[in-house]
Amino acid sequence: MTAKDVKEIFDRGLFRGEIRFDEPMSAHTSLKTGGPVEIMVFPEDPLSLKNVLSACEREDIPSFVIGAGTNLLAGDAGAGGVAISLREFRSIEPTRDEGVLFVGAGTPLAMLLGFAQRNGYAGLEALAGIPGSAGGAVYMNAGSFGTEMKDIVVSVSVMNRHGDMEILDRDSLGFAYRRSNLPEGSVILSVNIALGRDDPDAIRRRTREFLEKKRAAQPLGEASAGCVFRNPPGDSAGRLIDAAGCRGMRAGGAEVSRVHANFFINKGNATCRDFMQLMQAVKARVMEHSGVELEPEIKVVGGND
Ligand SMILES: Cc1cc2nc3c(=O)[nH]c(=O)nc-3n(C[C@H](O)[C@H](O)[C@H](O)COP(=O)(O)OP(=O)(O)OC[C@H]3O[C@@H](n4cnc5c(N)ncnc54)[C@H](O)[C@@H]3O)c2cc1C
Repeated sequence: MTAKDVKEIFDRGLFRGEIRFDEPMSAHTSLKTGGPVEIMVFPEDPLSLKNVLSACEREDIPSFVIGAGTNLLAGDAGAGGVAISLREFRSIEPTRDEGVLFVGAGTPLAMLLGFAQRNGYAGLEALAGIPGSAGGAVYMNAGSFGTEMKDIVVSVSVMNRHGDMEILDRDSLGFAYRRSNLPEGSVILSVNIALGRDDPDAIRRRTREFLEKKRAAQPLGEASAGCVFRNPPGDSAGRLIDAAGCRGMRAGGAEVSRVHANFFINKGNATCRDFMQLMQAVKARVMEHSGVELEPEIKVVGGND
C-alpha cells in the first residue's frame, strides 16, 4: 500500500481514524527503539480496519499489529508496510452474562484493572503492573503470580487478513506459556473475560499487594519490555542469567537490569542492534554456564539495515 492507496481509502470515505507516514516505532514501544514504519494506521471501527486489511491483501503489502508495544523490539531501520494500532478500540462493558466483561483490544490493562476494582470484579489482581493492552495480553497469554489471561478469557473476536470476522472461544486459541496460536495475520478486536465478584476494597487491597511485590522485584520505572527470554521448563531465565554473572552487562545503551536479570533496560540511546548484541552475549554466557539455550520472549518487528 502506498501513500496514494491510503489517500484513496481516505478520499472515498472508507477509513475513519488517524493515518501517519514514516512514524517512528520508538514512540510506540516501551523499549524506545525503532526507526520509522512506512504507514501507521489507527482505525476507529472494524469496517475501517477491514478496508485497510483488504487494501494490504490486494496490493500484497505486509502488515503487523501493535498493541501497547510493551513486548516489542523494533528494528533501527524501521519497517515497510503498515503497522496497525488498535488504540481506538478502547472500551469495557458488562455483558448480559454475570461477571463477563466485553473489553476492546486497545484497552490498557491498567484501565481494565481500575474498572474491575471500582466495580467489584475479581480475578485480575495478579496482573497488576503489566503495561500491555488487552489484545496484546491475549496474544501473549500474559500472566504473573500464577494468573494468566487463559484463565479468564471466554472468547475473542478477531478479523482475519481477508477482513472476515469470527468469534474464537478460549479452547481454540491454543494458549500455552506466553503464547497463543491465533491464525497468522489475525487481529484481535475484543475479548470477553469472565471474572468473579468481590468487595471493591478487598480487590483494591489485593491489587496493591501484588503491585508492591512486583515493584520490589522488577525495574518497573525504567524503559524495558519486561522479560526478554522465556523461562525454560522448570527454571527461570532470570535466575540462569544471574547465575551466569550477567547482571549489569552492557552493549551500547542496553543493560541487563541489576534489579531483575531478565529485564534489559534502555539506559538512554540504546538501539535495537545494542539489544540484539546484548541478547546474543547473554545467551552465549548462559549456554556456557548452564548448558541451557534461552529463547526470546520479546517479538522483533522490522529490521536493522
Ligand atoms: C515493565 C514491564 C513489565 C512486564 N511484566 C509482564 C508480566 O509480568 N507478565 C507478562 O506476561 N508480560 C509482562 N510484560 C510484557 C508485556 O507487557 C506483555 O507481553 C503484554 O501482554 C504485551 O501487550 P502489548 O499490548 O504491549 O503488546 P505488543 O508488545 O504491542 O505486541 C506483542 C505481540 O502481540 C501482538 N498483538 C498485540 N495486540 C494485538 C491484537 N489486537 N491482535 C493481534 N495481535 C496483537 C503483536 O503483533 C505482537 O506480536 C511486561 C512488560 C514491561 C515493559
